[in-house]
Amino acid sequence: MDDLALFYGLQESTHLPLLYLRKPIAQALPMKSHAILYLYILLPLQVMATEIALFVPRTETAAWQSQIQFAQSAAEDLDIDLLIYDANNQSQVMLQQVIDACNRRVNGILFMNYEHIGEQVLSITERYQIPSVIYNTGFIEDNLLPRSKYKHWIGSITPDDKYAGALLAEQLLRRAETNEVKEVKLLVLNGNMNELSAQQRNQGLHQFIKHHSNVSVVAEGSTGINWSREEAKRLFIQHYQQFPEINTVWAASDTLALGAMDAMAELALPRQDMIVGGIDWLPEALRMVSKQMPYVSVGGHFSEAAWGLILLNDYLHGSDFAAESTQFHSQMYAINEKNINTFQSFIGDDWKRIDFKSLSKEHQNGQIYNFSIKHLLDTYYNNSKMLTLTDEETEWLEQHNTLRLAIDIDWPPFEYVDDNNIYQGMSADYIKIIAQRLGVKIEPSVGKSWEQVVQASKQKELDIYPALSITPDRKEYLRFTLPYLSFPMMIITNQDIPYINNINALKDEVVSVVKGYSSHEMLQNNHPQIKLFEANNVSEALEAVSSGRVAAYIGNIATANYVMTREGYTNLKVSGVTPYRIDLSMAVRKDWPTLHAIIQKALDSITEEERKHIYSRWITVRYEHGVDYNLVWKIVVTSLIVLLILSYWTRKLSTLNSKLNHEVAERKQIEKQLREEKKKIEKLAITDSLTGLYNRRHYNIVLLSEIRRAQRNRDWISFVILDIDYFKQYNDNYGHQSGDDQLLSLATCLKANCHRASDYCFRLGGEEFGIIFSGLSPKEAFLFVEKLRAEIEALHLEHRYSQAAPVLTASFGLVTTNNLDHEAATLYEAADAALYKAKESGRNKVVSTEI
Ligand code: GH3
Ligand code: MG
Ligand code: MG
Repeated sequence: MDDLALFYGLQESTHLPLLYLRKPIAQALPMKSHAILYLYILLPLQVMATEIALFVPRTETAAWQSQIQFAQSAAEDLDIDLLIYDANNQSQVMLQQVIDACNRRVNGILFMNYEHIGEQVLSITERYQIPSVIYNTGFIEDNLLPRSKYKHWIGSITPDDKYAGALLAEQLLRRAETNEVKEVKLLVLNGNMNELSAQQRNQGLHQFIKHHSNVSVVAEGSTGINWSREEAKRLFIQHYQQFPEINTVWAASDTLALGAMDAMAELALPRQDMIVGGIDWLPEALRMVSKQMPYVSVGGHFSEAAWGLILLNDYLHGSDFAAESTQFHSQMYAINEKNINTFQSFIGDDWKRIDFKSLSKEHQNGQIYNFSIKHLLDTYYNNSKMLTLTDEETEWLEQHNTLRLAIDIDWPPFEYVDDNNIYQGMSADYIKIIAQRLGVKIEPSVGKSWEQVVQASKQKELDIYPALSITPDRKEYLRFTLPYLSFPMMIITNQDIPYINNINALKDEVVSVVKGYSSHEMLQNNHPQIKLFEANNVSEALEAVSSGRVAAYIGNIATANYVMTREGYTNLKVSGVTPYRIDLSMAVRKDWPTLHAIIQKALDSITEEERKHIYSRWITVRYEHGVDYNLVWKIVVTSLIVLLILSYWTRKLSTLNSKLNHEVAERKQIEKQLREEKKKIEKLAITDSLTGLYNRRHYNIVLLSEIRRAQRNRDWISFVILDIDYFKQYNDNYGHQSGDDQLLSLATCLKANCHRASDYCFRLGGEEFGIIFSGLSPKEAFLFVEKLRAEIEALHLEHRYSQAAPVLTASFGLVTTNNLDHEAATLYEAADAALYKAKESGRNKVVSTEI
């Protein structure tokens, strides 16, 4: 079975039978009733279940299948009835489906700005007053924010594409370092640059490059609207033939990266010679990584629908997240040759292991969201590393297909043999998982006493101890794994003894222990003042306490609890803890290091969940034994009263808190709107309304500050005044409106040519413009302005009434200086004088002066 394909649900999936069974029925129904188009996931009927509608453009591609499966897994954990609407690639169908969902009065809507229908969706949901969250594709417009124009649009969760672009660049650089490539020479393959995701990924890349001098872009190309693999292939061939120094490909998607690989195959370039990376975690791309090709893939953004469900669910259940933010981003993650193995456990999983509740605010009050795949991998998957054996280990197992276990037949709950002669216990459960995973049989030493077992193992008649604590003696003939079970040693006494806060309080008392147990050794060595009663087993040791013969029993809590429960010691209780623990490892005969390595790997492959399951099978704290019922009632009644008071206050506090949160969020929103309004007003105050350039007022401010900056940096500063030639005649003959149009064309041309951070363009008034720039010498400045003059002429704006040219032209007065003492007015006068000269000498000219 292809793991990667399974991960994306490309092959038969058992996780989603209803989705796929329902689809043909849905499609067979008349289009008119769009309500039928959704794919309904049946969950057990629940009272007051939350119903949330998820809108997807399509369900058949790998990426969307994983998006949907992940969301379903979240819905199950959160007790949400998830309705999935498939638009079949038609945005109009999606809109109709939104209306259907609204008419159905779903509790929440999870939508995307698919083909720019986002705002239409918002106006529909606003009408129905249904809370919504946008996911996957957001709005390009910066001023469209949740909870402002559309009050019921409560939040957004979109990928951090800038981060993804930079992350990909960083991963490529790292891979280059591994390959000992010193200078990364990039071919950049962009997707459709009209899309926000493509733009932002590219921005992230360039931001990264700015700070890494050993990474440079040799060539950059865009595949246009389709993000097509074919087009990427063509671009690679074209650029590589021109720039054979290219050694790395940064591609905005895995599809484009694969296109580059296609091109390499066609050009017969060895695959190892080019470091390639893309975004999306496409199965084909990940296969490249697992084959140890120099390939990296960034992805994980299939998780957003699930995160969106968490947001909606929290909001609907009174845990508003607005105080944290209303705009969330999911962080993508890179898969490379180093972590692909860890990732394998994520692959092919149905994500049941993830506890989505633990990611929500409703269930984890006050926690900050952590919407990252990295977090999931760390929390749920790193503990279950794939069990990968070396060839030597596999071969070893083939030759030794039965493992002979050295067991303690009476050491519950760790290990024992039950009445049916079956090996049982926590360690037995561990060893059974291991045997199953390794494909070997086990043979426990059921008929042997402990002494016989030790003897047999020393003679290599037995191979593994499933549960043993490490001692120097044993290390002589055994190899230990890392401990996998650990329990504190506790003090058990009669009911009437008060709490014992220190083991030293037992000084001069008689305490029972089991002969040969590690607690026995520990007490002998560390607490010689305590007198010991050496019992043969736990039962006997506890009996001594129960009958009053000794003051206490010291032993691990797991065993003590098990025996007290099983044998019904009603008058015993746990009175205190000791600073000691029992740590149990598995131990393998010393002459078999290969088996030791195998067992350690197998133990490591046991997941946290499996561990918890084993624990809860064997450790049940039962209060019916060893309890004073009078006291219990007293405690229960008192606790109930305390709880009631507490819960009253918690509820009151939580209401106040959520009110406060709401107010804080509202205030933040208002402040944000105010800031934006202020920005707008400020911008208006410095902008010329006809051309959008800065106005004269702003010119005064900028000129001063730029002069000061140039003085500080001892830099050249230039100032230009330009005036349109024979513009009066233009207006008179073509009309004033046409004149205005030309002013705008000219302003646009100026703006397009002044794109450095230190370039400023102004409309000084009428048909007069100003430009301030710095960093260019007088000669360079002249060339720059001369180019501007030529560009304006090249606009070919007809002006038959000009005596300078048949088209609209302008004359330029330029002044450049690095004299620190000049004032703004001096500069203006010098430029104006130069302009006058330009007009005098025939117009459509640049006259420069240096002062
Ligand atoms: P030159 O500068 O080459 O000496 O000749 P000119 O015809 O451009 O002369 P002048 O600078 O004196 O004339 C300015 C003309 O620009 C006057 C007016 O018709 C026109 N003008 C000024 N402001 C505007 C405006 O906002 N819109 C339009 N359409 N025309 C304007
Ligand atoms: Mg003028
Ligand atoms: Mg003029």
